[in-house]
Amino acid sequence: MTRQVYILEDEADAAQLFERALAAEGFQTRLFGRIADFCDALAAQCPDLCIVDLGLPDGDGAELLGRELAAAEAPTIIVSGRGALADKLRGLEAGAEDYLVKPFDPAELAARAQVVLRRRSNAARAQKPDEIAAFAGWRVNFSTFHLIATDDTEDGLSKAEAALLRAFVDAPGRVLSRTALLEICAPLGDEAFDRAIDVRVSRLRKKLGDDPKRPTLIKTVYGAGYVFAAKVEWLSR
Ligand code: CA
Repeated sequence: MTRQVYILEDEADAAQLFERALAAEGFQTRLFGRIADFCDALAAQCPDLCIVDLGLPDGDGAELLGRELAAAEAPTIIVSGRGALADKLRGLEAGAEDYLVKPFDPAELAARAQVVLRRRSNAARAQKPDEIAAFAGWRVNFSTFHLIATDDTEDGLSKAEAALLRAFVDAPGRVLSRTALLEICAPLGDEAFDRAIDVRVSRLRKKLGDDPKRPTLIKTVYGAGYVFAAKVEWLSR
């Protein structure tokens, strides 16, 4: 996926260097020399990142932080000749993710851009709600690998158990062959034979209190595989 960067910088030479360094890191760039043009573009389409100079012919780039840039929710890196600590603090407090004092090596700008975007995507991932499904009185949290019983007691699932249960929960009522289940679980273990799935299924049945002789949750379909017989409801994901 191409990540787009809007650059608001009125010094053409500097702007070109920024563009070249960012392009080398795979960013797509759009360049603006005036606040007005930058704001028009921002309103039309929000980029992944903004790089904003402070001293501009039609105003101060810092003013954008509390307004247009805050609304756009694109992270911003300030690039400025103003190197005083007070200027930096003002910029960062106003919401900039980073502040680079000119002159700097454009490669550093590209590296900081990567860091800012990585931080963003990590934060977004951290905010994602847990994936919790409910079936037959059980709840399973696939984000924390917890199995929660009706009486709220919790049991942990191994990564392999969680992967297997996930395969069942994603396909209730459908027959899943051992081969299909192996493919789902294969990256997690090296016991690459049918029996390994049987062992895992029986462990999972035990955790779910499913009678191996007469299972009601994970049923065996002779010669075909297994079927998850419970109704699944996603509580969050
Ligand atoms: Ca300038």
